[in-house]
Amino acid sequence: MNYRKTKQRERILELLQGTKAHPTAEWLYDKLKTEMPDISLGTVYRNLKVLIDQSEIQKLPFGSGFDRFDADMSPHYHLICEQCGSVEDLEIPFYKEINEQAQKSSSFKISGHRIEFYGICDHCQLTYNNNQITN
Ligand code: ZN
Ligand code: MN
Repeated sequence: MNYRKTKQRERILELLQGTKAHPTAEWLYDKLKTEMPDISLGTVYRNLKVLIDQSEIQKLPFGSGFDRFDADMSPHYHLICEQCGSVEDLEIPFYKEINEQAQKSSSFKISGHRIEFYGICDHCQLTYNNNQITN
């Protein structure tokens, strides 16, 4: 599909390209409304959908309202903090072969896979350690 370029969409893409935080739509909306007072959360969602259709960004689905967006389109895995919900990139090789293994073991037509790693981020580990010392 062809979309007319819009200033709002350009800014959303720029914001996503300029962060490693894997923001939510709400985060993008908060940033944008200071410079674009007319923008609504609905507009942000609509533009995110267009950017996904254009393969400019990908959605990390965590459920409605909690979805994260990533302008890094290379196949890569994520670390998710169980305490604060932060999402970080994990620098390990992408496991392409697992798709072929899944394909061989099923009649399913495999299109991809997701792997997420859960734990406690650096920041939350520090907070935890500080609490241990003071308690
Ligand atoms: Zn954390
Ligand atoms: Mn990422």
